[in-house]
Amino acid sequence: MVWNESRECMSRDEIEKIQSEELVGVVSRVYHNVPFYRAKMQAIGLEPGDIHGLADLEKLPMTTKQDLRDTYPYGMFSAPLDDIVRIHASSGTTGKQTVVGYTRKDVDIWSECMARSLSSGGAGRDSIVQVSYGYGLFTGGLGAHYGAERIGASVIPTSSGNTQRQIQIIRDFGSTHICCTPSYALYIGDTMREMGVHKSEIRLKAGFFGAEPWTENMRREIEERLGLHALDIYGLSEVMGPSVSCECLEQSGMHVWEDHFIPEIINPETLETMAPGANGEILFTTITKEGMPLIRYRTRDVSSLNYERCPCGRTHVRMTRITGRTDDMLIIRGVNVFPSQIESVLLEFGDAAPHYQIIVDRSDNLDEIEVQVEMTPQMFSDEIKNIERTERKIMSALHSVLGLAAKVRLVEPKTIARSEGKAKRVIDNRVLK
Ligand code: ADP
Ligand code: ZN
Repeated sequence: MVWNESRECMSRDEIEKIQSEELVGVVSRVYHNVPFYRAKMQAIGLEPGDIHGLADLEKLPMTTKQDLRDTYPYGMFSAPLDDIVRIHASSGTTGKQTVVGYTRKDVDIWSECMARSLSSGGAGRDSIVQVSYGYGLFTGGLGAHYGAERIGASVIPTSSGNTQRQIQIIRDFGSTHICCTPSYALYIGDTMREMGVHKSEIRLKAGFFGAEPWTENMRREIEERLGLHALDIYGLSEVMGPSVSCECLEQSGMHVWEDHFIPEIINPETLETMAPGANGEILFTTITKEGMPLIRYRTRDVSSLNYERCPCGRTHVRMTRITGRTDDMLIIRGVNVFPSQIESVLLEFGDAAPHYQIIVDRSDNLDEIEVQVEMTPQMFSDEIKNIERTERKIMSALHSVLGLAAKVRLVEPKTIARSEGKAKRVIDNRVLK
């Protein structure tokens, strides 16, 4: 079912007309309300009056995550706090989070986008939607929840974790749709097998899986284990949260809700705009947001845009599965982790730059992270119990900065391979087959 046919099935001309009008509006809003944007535009001699529509998009300066950190916490807000009804945050380097604020209208549009996404996966009033994304500062849980309520489904807010209970609920409550990370979906499949629950005992028809990279093979595996259609859903808290784009049942690319977000693909080296179909970094301009609009936001996610007509009837452009990042961000159990965050914690424990390595693995479909740190010769001569105490201290410091449990192992001096060039800090053994 198409949730909002007049919007989702518009002609390209109509989409571009809306984008042009909204772009002019948002540029004027941020110029007048956000000193950061005004300064950036003034620096290149640009005024809101120079932006007449979509064709002028490329004249605008790009925005980065660093800009959000520099203006932490509220410097990018375009609406007064009086009008902000919700604040979310996602992990950032050196403890600074990326903060986003939503007005009532923003939450409303977010719910609309999520409603479109759920509908394009076949969910409706008669569906039972289990939201197994985490609820909290992370946008996954509440984002999916509001959309599921919007379509009138019966929503089960299980949040993540407690897998056996999740499975009991899937089976006993008859959940028809589920929202969670793809690795958690696989984990649910494993646990079902251990519990002896067969897929014929459950009613799941489709799942909306996102917040981390996955592959076509994982899709097949999830579909096989859970007996459902596994759909890719994409979002990032800076832009909105889940449902910036989502796959329909055709399963060939995620429709970007283009009356709210304008996507572009650039070459991350030259920053030039790339032709439709080319693979590069995807950027978004949020044209209807009031709380914290973003102009040409660099996501660092690699994708491409497909403007061909989708058989489902929706006309909004499809972005292909995210195939990588143009920076070193890792996603561990749905949490964004930058190696620099780990380094900053380690620096607090020694005087010199530490030799360390981050090892990421996936065991039983759960991500695991271990940080190996070289001891200094004098630490090495220390008693075992002192070494263990240091490990525990680092572990707890990492936990509070990353919001995630990481194993810490102090290793003998000179055991971590030195590299001639850039140090290889991360060994990611997760094979996303
Ligand atoms: P959210 O709260 O929506 O997960 P975050 O800001 O925590 O947003 O993380 C956003 C990042 O998660 C994206 O920039 C992207 O790297 C990754 N991500 C989100 N959805 C997907 C997806 N479907 N496929 C691959 N990566 C994704
Ligand atoms: Zn489609």
